[in-house]
Amino acid sequence: MAVVAHPDDAELLCAGTLARARGDGASVGVCILCRGDKGQPADRVSNLAAVRRREAAASARLLGAKLFHVGFGDGALFDGPAQRRKVIDVLRAFRPTLVLAHAPEDYHPDHRAAAALAEAASWLAASRGQATRRPPLDAPPAVWWMDCLQTTGFEPGFYLDISDFVEIKRRMLACHASQLARAADRGFAALDALAERQQTLRGAEAGVAAAEAFRCHRAFQRLRAW
Ligand SMILES: [Zn+2]
Repeated sequence: MAVVAHPDDAELLCAGTLARARGDGASVGVCILCRGDKGQPADRVSNLAAVRRREAAASARLLGAKLFHVGFGDGALFDGPAQRRKVIDVLRAFRPTLVLAHAPEDYHPDHRAAAALAEAASWLAASRGQATRRPPLDAPPAVWWMDCLQTTGFEPGFYLDISDFVEIKRRMLACHASQLARAADRGFAALDALAERQQTLRGAEAGVAAAEAFRCHRAFQRLRAW
């Protein structure tokens, strides 16, 4: 399960890996914490959160993933007790063995909050002391930190070869038309070109055509033998 801040973050940072896992027979989930309601100026797309919800749903259908919307506001994501309870409940519904999370050093404040929230909630989801509607997980899932946008500031621990999954990743990202339409905005990168450059660069580092980079969360009870 990818736990991400915004509706297009999984497409940018881990869609190839999710598609590869799906191809290997894994159940794949995407948990989107924020509505994407401030993803562009308010006067351009009316009801942006609803538009982005539809875009994310189309992308999840392509992937064959179960999609969870938590519904926090953009720019207002924090790791706190109420937020943790909501994410714990999503994790207990999907019951992942592996969580892909934003890197704690990511550039975007919502991504950093999402990193803290995913880490805390995925630990507490296995705690019998944390009562929610659903039973606790059998064990805390492993956590892999995802690459940062444009690779900036992220030190990879390992790479996933996504060479056979670049087309589905491209089609998933293309579902996010409202964000791709921002390519002409000053200071806003063309996301499809950016994703392609990033997977090619990470692929070159790892000796394959295309790759996504991650780092294991090295903590007590979080490491696995794969
Ligand atoms: Zn984001």
